[in-house]
Parts: sequence; C-alpha cells; structure tokens
Amino acid sequence: MTASLAHDRSHHDPVPREKPRPTFLHLPVLVLNATYEPINICAARRALILVLKGVARTEEEHARMVKSPSTSLPIPSVIRLLEFRHIPRQSRALSRKNILMRDRNTCQYCGNIFSPGELTLDHVVPRSLGGPSTWENLVACCKSCNHTKGNSTLGESNLSLIREPRSFNLHTSRQLMRMMGHSDEQWRKYLFY
Ligand SMILES: [Zn+2]
Repeated sequence: MTASLAHDRSHHDPVPREKPRPTFLHLPVLVLNATYEPINICAARRALILVLKGVARTEEEHARMVKSPSTSLPIPSVIRLLEFRHIPRQSRALSRKNILMRDRNTCQYCGNIFSPGELTLDHVVPRSLGGPSTWENLVACCKSCNHTKGNSTLGESNLSLIREPRSFNLHTSRQLMRMMGHSDEQWRKYLFY
C-alpha cells in the first residue's frame, strides 16, 4: 500500500532534494529497555548521544560509521538502556511529532507522504465547531489539503480520511516498531517474539 501511495506523489513532489546531508544521523534506532523490551524508536543522533553519555549501550550496529576528526563510531541500529526505566504504558503525549509518527508523515486526506515540515495538523471536526484536540480528531495533513478543507467538515469539503485516526497506544506503537523493523533485519529478534 505504501509503495503505491509513494508513486502517487505527482504534482506536489514532497521528496527533499537536498543531499549530501549526513542523513544517517536520522536513521531510526530501536531503543530497548534494560530488560530488552522494545520501548521506542529514536534517531541515530539521539542514540549516539545516549551511548556517549553512558546511558545506553549499542546492541546492534549499522554498517556505517560516523566520523569526526578525532574518532569514528559505528552507528547504532539497536541500543539498550543501562538502567531500567518505567515506561507509562497507557498514553503517549499528544504532540505534533507523535501524530506525524502515527500517521507516518502521510497526509490523511490525499495519502501522499511529506517531510514533517510540509505537514500540518488538521482537526477533522474543526475547532470552530467544537472539535477537540484529541488523538481521534487530529490528523497529519498537507498544506494543499489543509487549504481545501479549511474550517469545513469532511462532508462539506468532500474530503475523506484514508484511515480512522486512533489513539497512539502501546499496541499502535508496537505495531509501528514492527512495521519499521521489517526494513531492519537487526531489529527482528527484539520485535518478533
Ligand atoms: Zn494532502
């Protein structure tokens, strides 16, 4: 499904063209609790900081190295916290970042994938009509669809959601980690058990 959507970017092509940025610092890293339970995904940059600070250790490495004049370090693919952290199971903060993550940077109206900076949050039921700021009423939305929708309801705007917005609970986040884990063999043994 993602693949067919990815081919459908057509007119507003969202793929950032600028290269050669050190994008490996944005590679996703699986974060395990001290007990090896997968708890999160972070960017390689943050994972490296946690490792350098002695908060976490690298369990699996990417083939790539990050180089500075004085040292070179393998980029982690999986890290594990050295001290057990109690992770509240029920809720994740309702934040722009988490909603974009839940919606996988995909506009929930046109189905195209964008960079986070090109996405905005849309209230499905507009705030002006009393729509709350909740997981179930906020979705990732591209600027073009946001403009089309404005302050109207789904019916008025003739837009429809590509899927029902759900709360980002443990189930969703485990699912997300598994989905991403398919692209990284090294994650599998921590996610599929
Ligand atoms: Zn859109």
